[in-house]
Amino acid sequence: PVPVITIDGPTASGKGTVAHKVADRLGFHYLDSGALYRLAALSALRRGADLNDEHALAKLAEHLPVRFDGPVIMLANENVTEAIRAEEVGNLASKIAALPAVRQALFALQLGFRKAPGLVADGRDMGTVIFPHAKLKVFLTASTEARAQRRYKQLIDKGISANMEDLLSDLKARDDRDTHRAIAPLVPAEGAHLLDTSNMTADQAIAEVLSWYAH
Ligand code: C5P
Repeated sequence: PVPVITIDGPTASGKGTVAHKVADRLGFHYLDSGALYRLAALSALRRGADLNDEHALAKLAEHLPVRFDGPVIMLANENVTEAIRAEEVGNLASKIAALPAVRQALFALQLGFRKAPGLVADGRDMGTVIFPHAKLKVFLTASTEARAQRRYKQLIDKGISANMEDLLSDLKARDDRDTHRAIAPLVPAEGAHLLDTSNMTADQAIAEVLSWYAH
């Protein structure tokens, strides 16, 4: 079977960077499942979809005209690589991610990323729901403060102004929604290795995951 490594964790825990680099080092494919929820959210915003209509949102998610071109993400003919990272889109993604029909609509799409020689999948429910038989499961965490600091730095580096208090309260609201929702809540998968990266560099976290995979 094609090996899978799942890396789940809360927002801004560093899992994107770690998962991406681990995939690079092993020559594996990479699935950024959060991007799919963000794409569904962006698509709903662009089309003016009714945000209370679960069925309509699920239909949008099921027929997302998405193409991954290396690091570039295309929605129909538009490059949305940057647009899906907006805070507004992330917040809406976390709201529609609580709808069972939306999660179901993205299920098959995610399984399709499992291709030889292997896959690193990053998200919230990669180890619990999508790839429960993964060869290695990792649950990445960091303190709320460390995560808000990272998000702050990312925004400032991009020349976007940011307010630490707003970021902290946004992070907490999103954590709360992701952890307490009825479907696919953010919890460590059975058998997951826990990695707290609050006081770790990305390179240290990557090395730790690679060493777990090798043993
Ligand atoms: O990881 P990222 O912040 O891009 O994900 C955006 C939102 O999508 C998360 O806040 C979460 O609610 C949702 N999500 C999810 N399941 C996943 C990945 C993301 O519910 N596997």
